[in-house]
Amino acid sequence: MDAIKTPDMNDWEAMVERIHSHLGIPKDYALKRKLEIFPEATHLVLVMIDSQGKPFRLEPQTASAWLKMEEAALKDSIKLIAFSGFRSYKYQLDLIRGQTENGKSIDEVLRKLAAPGFSEHHTGRAIDITAVDCPPATDEFEGTKEFVWLTKYAGDFQFVLSYPVDNIHGFIYEPWHWAYQG
Ligand SMILES: [Zn+2]
Repeated sequence: MDAIKTPDMNDWEAMVERIHSHLGIPKDYALKRKLEIFPEATHLVLVMIDSQGKPFRLEPQTASAWLKMEEAALKDSIKLIAFSGFRSYKYQLDLIRGQTENGKSIDEVLRKLAAPGFSEHHTGRAIDITAVDCPPATDEFEGTKEFVWLTKYAGDFQFVLSYPVDNIHGFIYEPWHWAYQG
């Protein structure tokens, strides 16, 4: 029986190259968008099963910071709803393919979704957050009291907004996407 080998950086790069050529992503994507490859997290904890029945998993330190922040918010009557945590390369590939198969161009899709290998979600340290009655992953989140709370207190739990307005990576503004920096 073969021993299971943990992938090293070369393996991740090779995987990214394969997936990108399959999706028709230009070779200069990472350079142009100032992005670095994120290997998939190897240690994850299951935080919950989300409303769609999917597992919501995070890197352990991020999970514990998230739970503390969620609880602190609740004390202020703020209900933070997480809708996306860890994502594998394969999951990101399927997300993108779902959109290109619906007729969107790859360029358009890559403004909103990072190419497989370059999503902060691969690290298990990024969380997409929404509020009750707010459609997930929309600008509307910026107008909620949950967002206002996050801008005030997320830093206390070492969460930072990754993609502000006019970010250097060319992603659209993502008020819902927060990452743990601890
Ligand atoms: Zn996100």
